[in-house]
Amino acid sequence: MDRDSSLIREALRQQLEADRLLGIKSVPILLPPRCGPDAGSRGGRLARSRTAAEQAEQLRIFNETEVKGCTKCALSDTRTQIVFGQGSPSARVVFVGEAPGYEEDRQGLAFIGRAGQLLTRMIDAMGLTREEVFICNVLKCRPPGNRDPSADEILACSPFLRRQLAIIEPEVLVALGAPAAKTLLNTAESIGKLRGRFHDYYLSGTTGEGPAIPLMPTYHPAYLLRNPAEKRKAWEDLQMVMRLLGLTLPGGTSG
Ligand code: SF4
Repeated sequence: MDRDSSLIREALRQQLEADRLLGIKSVPILLPPRCGPDAGSRGGRLARSRTAAEQAEQLRIFNETEVKGCTKCALSDTRTQIVFGQGSPSARVVFVGEAPGYEEDRQGLAFIGRAGQLLTRMIDAMGLTREEVFICNVLKCRPPGNRDPSADEILACSPFLRRQLAIIEPEVLVALGAPAAKTLLNTAESIGKLRGRFHDYYLSGTTGEGPAIPLMPTYHPAYLLRNPAEKRKAWEDLQMVMRLLGLTLPGGTSG
């Protein structure tokens, strides 16, 4: 076997391994390494001025003094507990969903249960662990019956997410599902139109003002459990995030 054949064989093996982690059963298609604006030439990371230990301490103090016991909106009446989010305080990538569900509200952790298990496999397939990334939601309290959050609730809670991101200073955000993507990007566009390319998330909350973090919208793991045929597209989105981070892609290339 010549060298090219060996490389292709290894690339296929790695892609199949990623597909196995994600539970994708279709025939793999190798994405070529991408050039151009989506390949990682965007803004890059925020200037990181603190050590990981300082970031961890700031995140802990922020949670203890400002988020814990919050009663800024009516969800404080119905929640079991606040779900602050968990993972590395100096994560390179932050995954953001819409709001905690039943199990998350009960246990106080973001993305657990079946959808959370699939998210874990998606993170594994990227060559990362849940401990290396940060996982949270736009809303820190569960809306009763998992109803859609109101505009007032999003307005009340969004500053908490912005503060978390300002402390963590991630290089990239992944918005999980249409509600999170639409809220973070302040748009009515469908997830089908938003996914597949990077957008700018402004920490100031105002488009064009201050530093922005590249944000990749993709499908929510709960949606992927109901629509496994869409896992391929979600994996394409995650591979674009991997390129941005310079992680090794299936096929041995890095971004
Ligand atoms: S959802 Fe956010 S703003 Fe509302 S009570 Fe919970 S932490 Fe406070």
